[in-house]
Amino acid sequence: MQTKMLINGEMVEGTGEALDVLNPATGEVMGAVKEASDAQIEAAVRGSAEAFETFSVATPAERSAILLQIADVIEANSQELAELESLDVGKPWPSAHDDEMPLTIDVFRFFAGAARTMTGSASGEYVAGHTSMIRRDPIGPVAAIAPWNYPLMMASWKIAAPIAAGCSVVLKPSEITPLSTLLLAELLQDVLPKGVLNVIHGRGPTVGNTLMNSPQMEGISVTGSPATGMAAMRAASQQIRHVHLELGGKAPVIVFDDADLDAVAETIRYGSYFNAGQDCAQPCRVMVADRVYDKLVAAIAEQVAQIQIGAPKTEGTEMGPLVSATQRDRVAGFVDRARRSSEIVTGGTLSEGNGFFYQPTVIANVDNTAEIACTEVFGPVVTVSRFSDAEEALKIANTGRYGLASSVWTRDVGRAMQMTSKLRYGFTWVNTHGVATPEMPWAAMKGSGTGSDMSVYALDAYTAVRHVMVAH
Ligand code: NAD
Repeated sequence: MQTKMLINGEMVEGTGEALDVLNPATGEVMGAVKEASDAQIEAAVRGSAEAFETFSVATPAERSAILLQIADVIEANSQELAELESLDVGKPWPSAHDDEMPLTIDVFRFFAGAARTMTGSASGEYVAGHTSMIRRDPIGPVAAIAPWNYPLMMASWKIAAPIAAGCSVVLKPSEITPLSTLLLAELLQDVLPKGVLNVIHGRGPTVGNTLMNSPQMEGISVTGSPATGMAAMRAASQQIRHVHLELGGKAPVIVFDDADLDAVAETIRYGSYFNAGQDCAQPCRVMVADRVYDKLVAAIAEQVAQIQIGAPKTEGTEMGPLVSATQRDRVAGFVDRARRSSEIVTGGTLSEGNGFFYQPTVIANVDNTAEIACTEVFGPVVTVSRFSDAEEALKIANTGRYGLASSVWTRDVGRAMQMTSKLRYGFTWVNTHGVATPEMPWAAMKGSGTGSDMSVYALDAYTAVRHVMVAH
């Protein structure tokens, strides 16, 4: 197990407290990783500030070449990286290796291209005798904070875009799941110029907080919970920093009575319980037109009851454990509170054994204002509620704090277009849910964040528009 951090080009053991790393499938301690001390955080921050001076003027072609090399290194080590990811998060092996690795690698390849597309928008004489030009330049060193649900993929989103833009990065993976990111740090030690990427380990409220509040960090980029997003905004407000946030979600799946119900039920089976439901875009809030409500509840229940839950490496496992006992107990708490006022169609119980397993759960007859319908559970739980017409569906979906993923299911193109134009969500799928590609933005609205990950729009978070004027 690689437990060292990457600080200013050196692999170093933390000198702070040792934090246990647990195997979620068994509850056993697999090892421990020492946190970064204040002096080590400072060294990483200083290293990134020094590296920015030279890296920010590297040509797009040079940055692109580095990103392509990173993709190749991950591809060459994908087996080992996926092993760690599967072990640390409890992901079924096919998810960790076959589903997540290709996108993780492709994100770097996409940004290798995107690095070479940045242009200013205008040049000309707007004042007589003066020529103006608009530049887009990197903002400076970026403090990047990643979550535990897709540690490596989220690390790739946090690293690739700022590096494409010419920024240096200090990345802190989640203290719960640091293993794959620490291995990546080691693999990249000689690929990136010294200090361009630093990886430090530690808890959020201490190590993460110190990092976000470091004066040399010009940008703060967080993928995590709304509470961490608010902490980032507070930190940014003390020094006026760029903030980029990708936070929680509560994706509505709006099903009209002309929809392909079998396709919806299959999407719920394969999409809602992927990664044990710990997914910010999880299709978790199924809203169904009255007329087809009972039929869809039955179809979903039939699909979900077939999900095979088990150890990550067991053949046929579709769903593994939750990441931690805390997360499992949080999920159980939501379901237990919902039990009183709605119907548990399937699941709703913990599994036997010491691992952090929870049964795939479907809850029907859910009131659209209930806690379980409105708050992110982040676990293998899907609610099903009713609506009577499009207007009501929109009102329900657009009420509330989140604005990340959503989907609309109907054969009526006009209705789909009307819904997609009015939903206040960063992304809306029609007749599918969860399909992602690096060319397209993973965009956030409302309480789900600011800006986008992936796509050329991600570069906006790490670049500043500048005006240069030449008198002649
Ligand atoms: P979390 O906010 O608890 O932790 C995320 C990261 O923030 C961790 O590295 C943690 O150490 C750090 N952190 C926590 N408190 C901090 C503080 N005060 N200061 C600095 N850093 C701090 O989130 P999580 O439980 O790891 O992840 C789950 C959340 O992430 C969910 O809400 C999920 O929806 C969201 N998420 C969003 C996206 C997206 O693209 N929008 C993707 C994945 C996960």
